[in-house]
Amino acid sequence: MSAGGQRVVVLGGGIVGACAALFLRADGHDVTLVDRLPPGAGTSSGNAGVISLGSCMPIATPETLRKLPALLVDPVGPLAIRWAYLPRLLPWLLRVALACRPAQVAATTAALATLLAHADQAHDAVIQRAGLGDLVRRGGWLKVARDQAALLAATAPEREAYERFGIDHTLLADGEPHDLEPALAPELRAGLLMPHNRAVRDPRRYVERIVQAFVRDGGRVVRAEAFDIPPDPGPVALLRTTAGPLSLDHLVIAAGVFSRRFARLAGASVPLEAERGYHVMLEHPEPTLHRPVYFVEHGFLLAPMDQGLRLTGGVELASPTAPPDDRRVRRLVPIARRVLPGLAGRILATWQGCRPSTPDSRPVIGRAPMRPNVWLAFGHQHIGLTLGPLTGRLIADLIAGRAPGIDLAPFRPERRYW
Ligand SMILES: Cc1cc2nc3c(=O)[nH]c(=O)nc-3n(C[C@H](O)[C@H](O)[C@H](O)COP(=O)(O)OP(=O)(O)OC[C@H]3O[C@@H](n4cnc5c(N)ncnc54)[C@H](O)[C@@H]3O)c2cc1C
Repeated sequence: MSAGGQRVVVLGGGIVGACAALFLRADGHDVTLVDRLPPGAGTSSGNAGVISLGSCMPIATPETLRKLPALLVDPVGPLAIRWAYLPRLLPWLLRVALACRPAQVAATTAALATLLAHADQAHDAVIQRAGLGDLVRRGGWLKVARDQAALLAATAPEREAYERFGIDHTLLADGEPHDLEPALAPELRAGLLMPHNRAVRDPRRYVERIVQAFVRDGGRVVRAEAFDIPPDPGPVALLRTTAGPLSLDHLVIAAGVFSRRFARLAGASVPLEAERGYHVMLEHPEPTLHRPVYFVEHGFLLAPMDQGLRLTGGVELASPTAPPDDRRVRRLVPIARRVLPGLAGRILATWQGCRPSTPDSRPVIGRAPMRPNVWLAFGHQHIGLTLGPLTGRLIADLIAGRAPGIDLAPFRPERRYW
């Protein structure tokens, strides 16, 4: 441990907050992690587990805008919207539309590629410190389609980005996906493999074990709801919680989609909304998949987990607190049975979570503009599992006054977001 000695409170025990707590404790700070749920039980519990080092394209691109009308009327398509929420969502959507301009897309792609280039190393540090090797699967992840033309068309912009930023990828030979994954329907003949990407076998357990390591290292966990930071200007001294006020020298806001209110209390107006997502857990077929597989024509992913095969797909734009509606993700199960003929299709469980998303698809990593001891660490949209360890390390660097070694200007809280 290096010399730290500051009292740091981390709000939010998802992948981002847990990793921040682990790195901050390793710096010798007196760290308290606050969450109203058990650590890892929020959105970080139900994701697809892909450490996706190539996901540098923003969600909002000219292509997304062009396809929008068709997407909104497709009952099993990858986008749904709760129309009653539209008035609240509109300002965010307008910024998303502005963020689709080619120059913005190019800037975000470059910024995310820079972060992603450091993401694997940060996972290694966490895996080593918390002893998580048994929870990580090697073998890459795979995108498949019926034929090469469909695969090439669907993946053209991302392959261009892979080439530009030197991201490892392999176009498979005709029929090779089935050789790699005998569980796949043989008619899925085309594949794009991200060979060096790893996958987490149980994302909730991954976060739980990080928090266990943090506690073993001397960190403290408080199970409580945070509701306020005092309004006085200058450094924040307290976080008010249902377990009483917590005194602090530094506050890290890593509350996922619920960070927006706390960021505002710290003087940062961040347009953050929920891209809600669902999963269905299915019994493993025999044989099952060895790595996560994304089905390009259907827009969903099947990821082998310890508890079964996890089907994730799609975005629902709605309030983060609206009740779940899993009908759309359930409708994907019969399609999953076609692409994986051995799948019985018995549903073991369904789940819903909230990807915390900014209009420009960039996370918010940095100091709050008005409160110099408040640090923002949220907004990791579809790649929070991938970037959580790196963000945790960067926050620890910033609090220690170390140079983070990455240009964090594209992620600063006071940027324009579109
Ligand atoms: C279906 C789906 C699939 C995904 N697949 C992948 C993938 O394969 N790879 C990838 O990299 N990413 C993936 N993601 C994205 C990833 O899961 C998220 O970006 C990530 O989990 C966000 O982590 P977080 O720590 O910011 O938020 P969370 O995990 O939501 O943690 C925030 C925590 O803050 C707590 N909190 C909030 N408000 C308060 C309060 N007032 N008081 C106390 N506690 C509070 C919450 O209880 C919660 O535990 C996926 C997401 C979804 C929905």
